Amino acid sequence: MNKMKRIYLDNHATTAVDPKVLEAMQPYWCELPGNAASWHVFGKEASAAVEKARGQIGELIGAESQAIYFTSGATESINLALKGVASFYGEKRKQVVTLKTEHSATLDACGYLEKEGFEVTYLGVDEMGKVCLEELDNVVSGETLVVSVLHANNEIGTIQDLAAIGEVARKNGAFLHVDAAQSLGKVMLDVEGQKIDLLSATAHKLHGPKGVGCLYVRRRGPRVRLDAQIHGGGHEKGLRSGTLNVPGIVGFGQACEIAREGRVEQDEYIRGLRDRLWGLLKVGDETLVRNGHPVETLAGNLNFSVPGVDAMNLLMKVPELAMSAGSACTSAIPAPSHVLRAIGVPAELATSSIRVGVSRFNSEEEMEFAAGRILEAIRELRESSDGGELPESCLAF
Ligand SMILES: *Cc1c(COP(=O)(O)O)cnc(C)c1O
Repeated sequence: MNKMKRIYLDNHATTAVDPKVLEAMQPYWCELPGNAASWHVFGKEASAAVEKARGQIGELIGAESQAIYFTSGATESINLALKGVASFYGEKRKQVVTLKTEHSATLDACGYLEKEGFEVTYLGVDEMGKVCLEELDNVVSGETLVVSVLHANNEIGTIQDLAAIGEVARKNGAFLHVDAAQSLGKVMLDVEGQKIDLLSATAHKLHGPKGVGCLYVRRRGPRVRLDAQIHGGGHEKGLRSGTLNVPGIVGFGQACEIAREGRVEQDEYIRGLRDRLWGLLKVGDETLVRNGHPVETLAGNLNFSVPGVDAMNLLMKVPELAMSAGSACTSAIPAPSHVLRAIGVPAELATSSIRVGVSRFNSEEEMEFAAGRILEAIRELRESSDGGELPESCLAF
């Protein structure tokens, strides 16, 4: 196993840190250890580095740097955004509108708000994963506090039309919160043009470090107010107390700058690899079914079902390929993904689904190797009788 060639194809779960990001972070571990809140020269250096990163992130989404608040990741940002506005404005508006295909961070935060007395509307999506704008328009009203949507889905990659969704929210006086964890640095984001009021993102999905994220909070037109969810030393203008993760924040900023400069070119390269992999798989086995949107999807996303083969059995046959199964473990029993269910994939195909996430650090040679191994494993599983057996273990998304 130690000499086995391994290929990382799970870039929706997390990504490798770009060596240039690591290089930018390096001085902030040992040589420049300052706390960004300290008055002395070390503190000032740390604070300057944090402000530079704030600007780099702001630039990628067309936002002023003062509107960016650092957190520990997208999960925290989503919780702060939704619970923060609910707490501040909850007396006036009681409805939250979101999608059935959201990440668990949003679904679970919404579940909490329901217990707090908010009414949450979970909109369905079409068979490609897109929300129906007419339905959204019918549901959003003067009672709606916030519309929260996942920009690019973490399972099937489908990209929502934020500008159109933002228009519906804005005309009803509701805020638009966007979970941009998968899309930041990969899909165009512009908080003005897309009428985004709150945006959650995380460094580790765009070749930055794990454990650092941010929340964009609109400052004017309209100004968005939030109640803090973590109290303490008053960092981040009192919105998120806690000593800033200076090396992580520097890495996040660098990752955003790299993405801004190379996004279009990288996108084309990644899409080419993804299409090559899917082309080889489809030629080798025409029964494979692609899930999601054929065009309006993340360049690196490939979600497909293998009829008659259990996804976990397939993954276990190819341990050298890091991929995910389209089932999520909420208990010991693997359940078909809520996203695949929402787009109408039948249960037996949902438990046969594989999610691949390609990154700019993958190569064409890796696509060819992966396709060969996957096809070989499918053939073996179909020949033996255990193709449809229940998996012994399960990977979470
Ligand atoms: C990864 C992810 C999150 C959570 O981000 P963390 O930084 O790991 O907390 C939220 N939403 C989506 C769509 C994601 O892909």
